[in-house]
Amino acid sequence: MTTVSTVTSFLDLLCPPPLAETWDNVGLLVGDLASEVRRVMTCLTVTAESVDEAIRQRAELIVSHHPVLFQPINRLTTATAEGTNLLRLIAAGAAIYSPHTAFDSAADGINQRLATGLGLSEIVPLLSRETDPPGTGGGRCGMLASGSTLTTLAERAKTFLNIPRAQIVGPPDRAIGRVGVACGSAGDFLAQARAMGCDCLVTGETRFHTCLEAEATGVALLLIGHYASERFAVEHLAGVIQKEFSTLSVWASRDERDPLDWI
Ligand SMILES: [Zn+2]
Repeated sequence: MTTVSTVTSFLDLLCPPPLAETWDNVGLLVGDLASEVRRVMTCLTVTAESVDEAIRQRAELIVSHHPVLFQPINRLTTATAEGTNLLRLIAAGAAIYSPHTAFDSAADGINQRLATGLGLSEIVPLLSRETDPPGTGGGRCGMLASGSTLTTLAERAKTFLNIPRAQIVGPPDRAIGRVGVACGSAGDFLAQARAMGCDCLVTGETRFHTCLEAEATGVALLLIGHYASERFAVEHLAGVIQKEFSTLSVWASRDERDPLDWI
């Protein structure tokens, strides 16, 4: 019998919890390790839509990149959206596992895949702690082929992530060699990218003042959207779990959407 424990033990190997940031909340957050699992859904976030789908499709385990219960709570009621989502999933007997920053920083995690997908070579972590094993750590840094520009990089990102648009800070024809990559909302990596000699930092989203700081310090930015910067990896993760556990039915949520749209 495949249990929650069987699958989450595998996920702990892929996304080792010690790699997570100290402020994070990762691992099995809701559920019973001993309960049986036949159907697993991955998603970026637990939302009303992903909860509807998980219950309709009878998923016993949800692997949500973003954690639930990220902020401590002292009551679990339907007065909040999160309480409603969690009570529905608990009533349906579904467990929730979140790898979050452990997945971002893993050897074959989101940032490694993003750096590879952008065509970078000589990929190394942007920021490694002493305790991080080799090849793991926050963000990634690597080289684009010579002759590349900010436009080249943006076009690669749009093709790899299948997105129509991306935002840039810096001239489109600016020559780009070394590139820093950090999924999600990672403007905090700007100083480290500059220290590593990056010509550009690629992240999902960041604050206006971080854009100004990038411009003032001569580092280009490529903003690909928080959702797009991580959702592709959730889809990939479903395939990895399916490959490991051939008797399970595993899929990436088909109903979750980027809440941001263009008009
Ligand atoms: Zn995120």
